[in-house]
Amino acid sequence: MAENGKGRRRALGGFAIFLLILIILAICCDPEIRGLPSRREPAADAALTVYFLDVGQGDAALLLSGGESMLIDGGPRDSSETLLTDLESCGVTRLDYLIATHPHEDHIGGLPAVLEQVTVEECRMPDDTADTVAFERFLTALEEQDVSVDVPVPGDSFSFGSCTVTVLAPLSAAEEHNNNSIVLRITCGKTAFLFTGDMEDAEEGELLRSGAECSANVLKVAHHGSQYTTSIDFLQTVRPEIAVISCGTDNDYGHPHSALLRRLDDLGITAYRTDQCGTITITSDGKEVTITTEREAQP
Ligand SMILES: [Zn+2]
Ligand SMILES: [Zn+2]
Repeated sequence: MAENGKGRRRALGGFAIFLLILIILAICCDPEIRGLPSRREPAADAALTVYFLDVGQGDAALLLSGGESMLIDGGPRDSSETLLTDLESCGVTRLDYLIATHPHEDHIGGLPAVLEQVTVEECRMPDDTADTVAFERFLTALEEQDVSVDVPVPGDSFSFGSCTVTVLAPLSAAEEHNNNSIVLRITCGKTAFLFTGDMEDAEEGELLRSGAECSANVLKVAHHGSQYTTSIDFLQTVRPEIAVISCGTDNDYGHPHSALLRRLDDLGITAYRTDQCGTITITSDGKEVTITTEREAQP
């Protein structure tokens, strides 16, 4: 009897070790538990999926609609690897459109790495150049990959998947790169998204005076939440439900500015920040938008 008891204990012990190994294997193989992004799939009923990617202090948004893809800006160079991982996890191996809103490093620095890894059909950028290493690298990468470059004109529109993209700005050439930012309004059924690059008050004022249709459910807040743009007038014209701010944790610029956050709050607009939420995903079914975030913002 004693021998049998020992045998049972040995068998139970062996089973426990086997279970432990299974649990360890499951933990090691689960990408979510390891902190790696799992493969992201757009929601089945989404006509448009927009990923505001967490690239630290910079901007990068990936848009997917009807089998087409668009990248608006590519964050700074030091976030290139994160950006490539994100594109891979979204299953993106080619981009129909690459938009470089303006030639600042925090928007184009990551694009040479993208151009090396992903087939880009065409690039759109403003008629603006910068005497910087980042801009040189970007131009070289475009040339090496033989990508056609187009300068969009305000009023131009083109179809993207089941959406329509309208170019709203820049309306005139400015000295400051930020005020040459390409501004796009993307409509999907009854919903709209507004992408503003780093537009500052000069470009914003010109856009308001143009009377162009700017209303949008989702506003990508200009210039990482700077206080010198996204005025009350502009917010009352756009009337967004959701404002997305792309900025890095404890960045040197104090973005987003408390005055801007107050303006959003006063108008009842919910702000989501990539430094707090990680990647912010917003889908549209053509009637309404739905938001999910990688992390919950800490109060
Ligand atoms: Zn910027
Ligand atoms: Zn800028």
